[in-house]
Amino acid sequence: MPRQLATLVYEVPESLKETIKIGSYVNIPLRNKFEEGIVLDVSKKEPSYQTKEIIGNIFDQPILDKWQIDLMNWIATYYKAPVWNVIQLFLPPKIYPESEIKKFEDKYDEKNKHFALNEKFKLTKDQKNAFEKILNTKKVSLLHGITGSGKTEIYLHLVEKYMNEGKQSILVVPEISLTPQMIKYFQRIFGEKVAILHSKLTAKKRSIEWLKIKHNLAPIIIGPRSAIFAPTKNLGLIILDEEHEFSYKQDQIPRYHALDVIKKIAELKGDVKIVLGSATPSVESYYKAKNKEYELIELNQRIGTANLPQVHVVDLRLEFQKGNYSVLSDLMQDKITQTLANKKQVILFLNKRGSASAIVCRECGYIEKCPGCDVPMTYHKLLPQSTSHKPSLICHHCGLIKEVPIHCPTCESVSIKHVGAGTQRVEEEVHKLFPNARVARVDKDTTAKRGSFEEIYGKFKKGELDILIGTQMIGKGLHFPNVDLVGVILADIGLHFPDFQSSQRTFQLLTQVAGRAGRDKTAGEVVFQTYMPTNAAIEFAKNHDYRNFYEYEIKQRATFQYPPFENLVKMSFVHKNVKIAEEEARETYEKLKEILPESYKLNIYPALMFKLNNKYRWNLLIQGENPSKFLDQIVLTENCRVDVDPISVS
Ligand code: ADP
Ligand code: ZN
Ligand code: ZN
Repeated sequence: MPRQLATLVYEVPESLKETIKIGSYVNIPLRNKFEEGIVLDVSKKEPSYQTKEIIGNIFDQPILDKWQIDLMNWIATYYKAPVWNVIQLFLPPKIYPESEIKKFEDKYDEKNKHFALNEKFKLTKDQKNAFEKILNTKKVSLLHGITGSGKTEIYLHLVEKYMNEGKQSILVVPEISLTPQMIKYFQRIFGEKVAILHSKLTAKKRSIEWLKIKHNLAPIIIGPRSAIFAPTKNLGLIILDEEHEFSYKQDQIPRYHALDVIKKIAELKGDVKIVLGSATPSVESYYKAKNKEYELIELNQRIGTANLPQVHVVDLRLEFQKGNYSVLSDLMQDKITQTLANKKQVILFLNKRGSASAIVCRECGYIEKCPGCDVPMTYHKLLPQSTSHKPSLICHHCGLIKEVPIHCPTCESVSIKHVGAGTQRVEEEVHKLFPNARVARVDKDTTAKRGSFEEIYGKFKKGELDILIGTQMIGKGLHFPNVDLVGVILADIGLHFPDFQSSQRTFQLLTQVAGRAGRDKTAGEVVFQTYMPTNAAIEFAKNHDYRNFYEYEIKQRATFQYPPFENLVKMSFVHKNVKIAEEEARETYEKLKEILPESYKLNIYPALMFKLNNKYRWNLLIQGENPSKFLDQIVLTENCRVDVDPISVS
């Protein structure tokens, strides 16, 4: 369908009054051409200007239902996005006539009888309890279960139950390509009944899946964030797996969060069960569960004999003091030697996010933090608005500027500087120290070519590689039974990122990475290298201790009134002219200052990625009970990008 990005007003001719409805797919005249459009609203009010007539319906029935149009309007209003950006979420790449579906219907009539699983496991007592609790509650269920505790199996049984009642289920996963085992498992058991929505499918295939779902021919839908917009007819269940994942927030217009949209879908459609699953729930969700807004269901044991791996923490300050300047500590080297001798595999993990932004004292681990915001200050060679032309530290949350210390303020050491090494440097050292090991590196550079990630992944899985070095890409969902050692080169790196979500992100990542070791019979071992061995995220991840991490983190959030206590709206002013970006931000800041109540906080600061794609960015952050309601009182320029409930403020 040609996408005319606008909402326009047309007259419904007398002959079409009966058949044109909200959601109808119609032919319309536009300039001197015919175009296709979707009816978003039908009104008796006559406009004051001349309008053209709709030519005709393309299909007998509307292609979008009322709930979809209502959801569209809610997203546009809540996330301050133009409706035409929102519509895209609801439509397939191509709209095929309904007759296309006949082919599938014929095939399906035969098969659509009661379907009994032949390969599923019998649920354990704990799983059965969780299953019953989910079915019996009217609330959103939060299924908190450590990795390997059998959450997937519970999803499978739930989906089956709804299918047997004639209801559709959507299973939302962070990224299709990272969950191949889970998808294969569902396909093996449910076959044709599973529709996979994958951005890598051809437009035709995706459009056919869309039709199948719309005609209730696919009771099970698996897909990423966007799968929540599947045109279900008889939806009974939505499962959001790994509910804490940041990929559930879309980072372009409309900047929606899948969880909030799912709740709205349940409200609009009625009688839809929501299940959130995670080994490390977001503190926002866990807080709601603790406060009885959600039903909390916990699984504390791994299925079978698999144990959680033992985690060693190496204090890099001591390593530095004894003169080991390598990126691999003595313990890490020993453990690698041992693992290779046992003919097992090693993963070395390097978190790249925010790596060069903070300065750390290598003697004592000191990091300069903003006193007002408790986030690390970020090092800048030259400040955006600076006249001094001296390197400085800036708080990317409130804009506070400080000089870069020459000596560490706590231990007087002069070894206070950037930390962090790239994956390439790690690879070089590994080659030097273990010349006989077969090593591969997975990062943006080595996997730029299509299929190269899959190739390395395949080799590692087959045992043709001994050591895999990589970034976030290897942290998730991958199952390597032969990996006995996971090493984290610098566990604290994510903590240098100036954001209220940093601690949670780091904890989740470390817990997940540690879960890569010992998924089979043996427990496996994990080494975290860090300058901050007593940091909460690191200490609690070491002990696989979600609950104490939560207690710690929720107190921090309360102190600074970050979500879930108060809400945030971020506005970014983006322009290729640095002055205009700043001026517009400052003008809006002044206007907001006038209308915001006393209890609201308002900050202005340059974005962490101050210059991106040749454009400069200044941010405003409003913090308070309901910050988005004030946006309607100010005029926003086209250079302003609004993010309601941002997951990063930097
Ligand atoms: P999670 O999703 O919580 O990480 P999984 O559902 O993948 O956990 O289960 C972990 C392992 O235990 C898998 O290998 C799975 O096949 C197995 N498993 C799960 N439930 C059962 C069960 N009821 N009986 C036997 N094995 C099970
Ligand atoms: Zn120091
Ligand atoms: Zn600050």
